[in-house]
Amino acid sequence: MRKKTREVKIGKIKIGGDNPIAVQSMLSKPSDNIQENINQAKELESAGCDIIRVSVPDYDNIKLIHKLKENIKIPVVADIHFDYKLVLECVYAGADKVRINPGNIETEKYIKSIANMCNNYNVPIRVGVNSGSLEKNILEKYGKICPEAMCDSALYNIKLLEKYDFNNIVISLKSSDVIMMIEAYRQMSEICDYPLHIGVTEAGTEKMGVIKSSIGIGSLLIDGIGDTIRVSLTEDPVKEVHTGINILKSLNMYRNSINIVSCPTCGRTKIDIMNITKQVEEILESQEIAKNIKKNIKVAIMGCVVNGPGEAKDADVGIAGGNKYGVLFKHGQVIKKIPEQDLVSELIQEIKNMIL
Ligand code: SF4
Repeated sequence: MRKKTREVKIGKIKIGGDNPIAVQSMLSKPSDNIQENINQAKELESAGCDIIRVSVPDYDNIKLIHKLKENIKIPVVADIHFDYKLVLECVYAGADKVRINPGNIETEKYIKSIANMCNNYNVPIRVGVNSGSLEKNILEKYGKICPEAMCDSALYNIKLLEKYDFNNIVISLKSSDVIMMIEAYRQMSEICDYPLHIGVTEAGTEKMGVIKSSIGIGSLLIDGIGDTIRVSLTEDPVKEVHTGINILKSLNMYRNSINIVSCPTCGRTKIDIMNITKQVEEILESQEIAKNIKKNIKVAIMGCVVNGPGEAKDADVGIAGGNKYGVLFKHGQVIKKIPEQDLVSELIQEIKNMIL
C-alpha cells in the first residue's frame, strides 16, 4: 500500500499523492557546453525521463536553464549550492524546481527571500540530504553517520523553510550505503508526508549500480515509499532512465508497458533463444512501439515447446522453441507453428495487434 504524501507540482508533472512515480535523471555534460547539454536532455526525454536536473554552479550557467526550457518539454530542476541569488535567478529563468539545502545558505534573511520567490512562482524545493555532508552539530549529536542523523538533518532543513511559510517541499535522504538509505527513508516516511525522491547515491558503474539501486529503490517502493526515483550511475544518464523504468516495470508500477519474461534455457533448447530475446527486447523498446503502448502486457520467450507454454501461462502472448521451428502461444494455448527465422517478426506483429 503506497504511503500517502502531499502532491507537489514540478512544471507539468505532479508527484506525490496518487500520481505515477516519476523517473528523474541528471545532465552530465560540462555546464558551459549548452549544445551538448541540450542534446543529452533530448536523449533523456525520448528515453522516458520525466524530470531532468542540471547543476548550476555559476551565473553563466543560467542561460542553460533558458535553453533547456526552449528545447525540451519535461520539467527542469536547478541544482544549486550555497548561493541564494543563484537560486532566485534560476527560478526567474524558468526552473521548475530547485534543489538546495537551506542550511547551506548564509543567513536566514536569504532563506526567506528564496521561500518568498519560490512561493510566488510556485516552484518546489527539494531538500537533498546526503549522508556524506551532514551538519557538524548533527554529526556530533549522533557521533556517526546514521539514518537518525540523516532524518534530523532533513527536519532541520525543512524547518528553515517552513518558518517562512514554505511547504512546497520534496525530500531526499541519499547514501551510497544501501541499508542506510533504506532505513533513513523508512524513518522519514513515518514522520512527515512530504513527497520523497529516492535513490542510492554514488552507486557506481552499471555493473553494481543497477544492483544497488534496484535493491535500495525497489525495497522502498515495495514498502509503498517513494514518489520519484533517480538511479545514479557512473554511466551515460540514459542508462539511469532505462534502469529506473525497469525497476518500476519489475514492480508493475510503470505506466503501460511490456513485461518480457524469458527462460534461462536448458538442455531442451534447440533454437537461439538468447539472440531471439535480445532482438525482441530491442524492437519493443524502439520509440515507435514503446511510446504508443495502450495497455500492459506480458510477453514470454521460452526455450522449449514441452514446458514453455505451460510455464508461461500467465503471459498474454509468447513463443517457445522447437527444433528449427517454434510455436506462438497465448495464455498457455498454442496458436500456431512458425519457422525459426520468422519467430521474431510473427511475435512482434502479434504484440502490435494487441497493444497499439
Ligand atoms: S522452458 Fe524449456 S528450455 Fe526453458 S528452462 Fe524450462 S524446460 Fe528448459
